[in-house]
Amino acid sequence: MEKEKTLNPFEIVQEQIEEAGKVLNLPDEVIAFLKWPKKVLGVRIPVKMDDGSIRIFTGFRSQHNDALGPTKGGIRFHPNVTMDEVMALSAWMTLKCGVVGIPYGGGKGGVRCNPKEMSEGELERLSRGYIDAIWEFIGPERDIPAPDVYTNPQIMAWMMDEYSKIKGYNVPGVITGKPIIIGGSQGRGSATAMGTLFTIREAVKVLGMSLSGATVSVQGYGNAGYWAAKLLHQDGAKIVAISDSKGGIYSEEGLDPDKVLKWKKESGSVKGFPGTKEIGSMGPLTVKCDILVPAALENQITTENANDVQAKIVAEAANGPTTPEADEILTKKGVLIIPDILANAGGVTVSYFEWVQNNYGHYWSEDTVFERLEKKMKNAFHNVYNTHKDMNIRMRVAADVVAIKRVVEAMKIRGWI
Ligand code: NAD
Repeated sequence: MEKEKTLNPFEIVQEQIEEAGKVLNLPDEVIAFLKWPKKVLGVRIPVKMDDGSIRIFTGFRSQHNDALGPTKGGIRFHPNVTMDEVMALSAWMTLKCGVVGIPYGGGKGGVRCNPKEMSEGELERLSRGYIDAIWEFIGPERDIPAPDVYTNPQIMAWMMDEYSKIKGYNVPGVITGKPIIIGGSQGRGSATAMGTLFTIREAVKVLGMSLSGATVSVQGYGNAGYWAAKLLHQDGAKIVAISDSKGGIYSEEGLDPDKVLKWKKESGSVKGFPGTKEIGSMGPLTVKCDILVPAALENQITTENANDVQAKIVAEAANGPTTPEADEILTKKGVLIIPDILANAGGVTVSYFEWVQNNYGHYWSEDTVFERLEKKMKNAFHNVYNTHKDMNIRMRVAADVVAIKRVVEAMKIRGWI
């Protein structure tokens, strides 16, 4: 197998759309339409810094496709944000919403900044400034943002407040991932990992395995990774490896996810947890285990290490952790991949529930949220798995096919194509 052709996420998602489009025998012009966002906005945001100076930040919002409903997707604050990255992530959101069957298209936003070097006041002014720049482009019936890398419920609260001030009344449904006191949903914190767990439970069943006693390895120990480890552990699985950006740990006897989290909070990393072997940040990808959960960054499983992956199931809690070339290697090895747009769709699904609750002004219990999430994730898993079996295509292509079929049906019936 040759090395990766590209690591640019926009080129990767375009390739994925092309492949699934060909499987569906879509006309070239429809594939070409799906390969690009419908609308992209670029903005410049002046922010008064604490030292009195003015800094101008660059931001974007991309609306990939709104055939199935208003566009939906997070806002990323990161020094490396580019228009290509935001466009790619918006396309993945279209596919993610399509695969679980929620009435949204895909959107995504980003601001090029380094939040780690900004004060709380500067972050608040940037968040409000971003909304001042894009407010006409978004709205509860148009495009609904949410948190992504380095944005959080507090930032969502400032953004919702700024939008509501511009409109002159409270608009909780303009943004999701809000704190519960101002309209956030129960269960949003662990929703992504809960969705991953529901898909893993189904994968284990179709392979005739059992979660009880299954060995699990997790790369990344933030929101997605910690909750995945904790929930799988509660289901009886043995967590044998965990890593973060500073290092990784292995224990044949198994790790207690909460004890590891406490250690990470106190020492700054999972590294050095007593009684474990150091395996490095990339270690969990290739240790002996039944289930691997990449929950860190994109492009982690590549042509360099895909042949060394020993897991029977790879459940992609992270976005884009496997390169297209590595995806083929894993599939040939017989690994069952639960692709990102399926495995981590629990987050956007509960965001959808939050928006529904905001629109109704009626709030659900955590049990209701997870019951409804379970139903959506189970259905989505079996739709994708059956498509993979029936059409003899890779799980990732099957997920894209399920999603694109829905989007194209909506485009047809609306008379776009
Ligand atoms: P986070 O910032 O809470 O955690 C990221 C974790 O990854 C941290 O523990 C960090 O130390 C670790 N990490 C960074 N670089 C690493 C490396 N090279 N090796 C090992 N670990 C490394 O982020 P998160 O919200 O948990 O998101 C993780 C992934 O899940 C991202 O790809 C994100 O897009 C995806 N995701 C998250 C959600 C969600 O609701 N949180 C939803 C969908 C997708």
